[in-house]
Amino acid sequence: MRITDHFKHAAGQTLVSFEVLPPLKGGSMQDIFDTLDPLMEFKPPFIDVTYHREEFVYNKRASGYYEKTAIRKRPGTVGICASIMHRYGVDSIPHLICGGFSKEETENALIDLQFLGIDNVLALRGDARKFEDKFVPEEDGHKYAVDLVKQIHDMNQGIYLDSSIEKGAKTDFCVGVAGYPEKHFESPNFQQDIQYLKDKIDAGASYIVTQMFFDNETFFNFKKACEDAGITVPIVPGIKPLTKKYQLNSIPRKFFVNFPETLVKEILKADDKDVAQIGMEWCTQQSRELKASGVPCIHYYTMGDSKIIQKIVENTL
Ligand code: FAD
Repeated sequence: MRITDHFKHAAGQTLVSFEVLPPLKGGSMQDIFDTLDPLMEFKPPFIDVTYHREEFVYNKRASGYYEKTAIRKRPGTVGICASIMHRYGVDSIPHLICGGFSKEETENALIDLQFLGIDNVLALRGDARKFEDKFVPEEDGHKYAVDLVKQIHDMNQGIYLDSSIEKGAKTDFCVGVAGYPEKHFESPNFQQDIQYLKDKIDAGASYIVTQMFFDNETFFNFKKACEDAGITVPIVPGIKPLTKKYQLNSIPRKFFVNFPETLVKEILKADDKDVAQIGMEWCTQQSRELKASGVPCIHYYTMGDSKIIQKIVENTL
């Protein structure tokens, strides 16, 4: 079912959804089931599965030179989606990125998804590869997520890259895109970022999932800015509990988000063993407030840690 239909059927009730990462190569599907099994009691209408492109690694050769090799550390997104649908009977949403894909490869990937009965995709640009200082699209690939949204929108009209295909089968993808309550780090300013987000909606996207945030005010301001810009699609807040002290630095470095002063002070003065409890209580408070504000769904970044998420959702619903 289309995600937007899930929201319609919920008739104003706040849903919960979860996001999982494919296990590192060598791991098994059981890793995903172990994360999701305890969360299925909350009846998530959909589960997101992230996509991870290949990374470069440098191996030192006997000669002393380094050999550059491309490896994919977390393959399996589409297989995991199919497996989730099969085991739990819920929708799964593969993340699809521009990085590493030509338009032709994107088209073929979308055909596979449609044949598998996957109705929703989260369309993203992807980040720069490690050791590259900026995002570099494939020679015949998309530079921005908006271009990927346009390609999917075309396929929904039966328009394929090969213009000799007449009356092509119309796909029926519901497309989500990413939004950034604290602005995307490459954007010149917040307002321009909102404009680029609006472009993605105008190109055919039907809902927004946000980057994680730890201060609900940033989300409420973002939502208001979206509304002021004429964005009317559902906006799903994505959140995650802080569980370890080192995340005070690693999360801002990786995701370009801020922690509110009160949370930072509490974590800094806490013993390591108490950090997860503080993070859980913080995230529970966030969830309760978001639910009270009437968001259509709260999206939890599980990062493979379902026990804490389970407690948060139990204490929120
Ligand atoms: P875009 O919307 O293309 O924006 C990228 C940058 O370009 C922004 O600064 C934007 O303001 C700017 N921009 C947009 N359009 C234009 C234009 N026309 N001209 C000039 N500048 C423009 N990454 C993964 O690799 N795999 C995942 O599974 C994944 N899942 C994610 C899920 C969520 C909910 C979120 C929030 C992010 C996720 N990411 C994932 C990370 C994401 O790929 C990065 O944040 C990436 O840097 C930007 O992706 P985007 O889709 O927002 O890009």
